[in-house]
Amino acid sequence: MIAYPKIYLEKATDITEKMLIENNIKGIILDVDNTLIYYNKTLLENVDVWCKVLQQKGIKFCIVSNSNKKDKVKMVANKLDVPYISFGMKPLKRGLNKAQKILGLKNEEIAVVGDQIFTDVIGANRNKMFSILVKPLETKDILITRIKRPLEEAIIHKYLKQRGEKENVHK
Ligand SMILES: [Mg+2]
Repeated sequence: MIAYPKIYLEKATDITEKMLIENNIKGIILDVDNTLIYYNKTLLENVDVWCKVLQQKGIKFCIVSNSNKKDKVKMVANKLDVPYISFGMKPLKRGLNKAQKILGLKNEEIAVVGDQIFTDVIGANRNKMFSILVKPLETKDILITRIKRPLEEAIIHKYLKQRGEKENVHK
């Protein structure tokens, strides 16, 4: 299912080295709004430390934000010391492809991490990248995102239900 993430987590910093190794992931593309920063632009707690630790383990990072606010995206990228692409146009392939070239990895070695199904997850899946959905840091969204949220919730509900049933089958 193109709208389902491979992994669904509370927040980006819950991603562990073990998770990445198990799935042969060598690079991470990060979303910004509601994934790394709150609306007042404060960073997700400990995200800089998390990023540095994984970088030291050889994991490469790149930011791809759909935001056209370049200064904001740059500020986050500088704090994490990673390259960035603003106005990334996810789920279209262009921004993600640019990031793939920066990372120098195969698509299947890259995880895309974000809080939106219709941009981050579908963008990753269409591009044969590994999709990791996280819960949005805040529920306050811009209008266009707010319209999409109930549909996302319905998809997540179905996804969790299906995953639960699958797990039961294996028991
Ligand atoms: Mg976002």
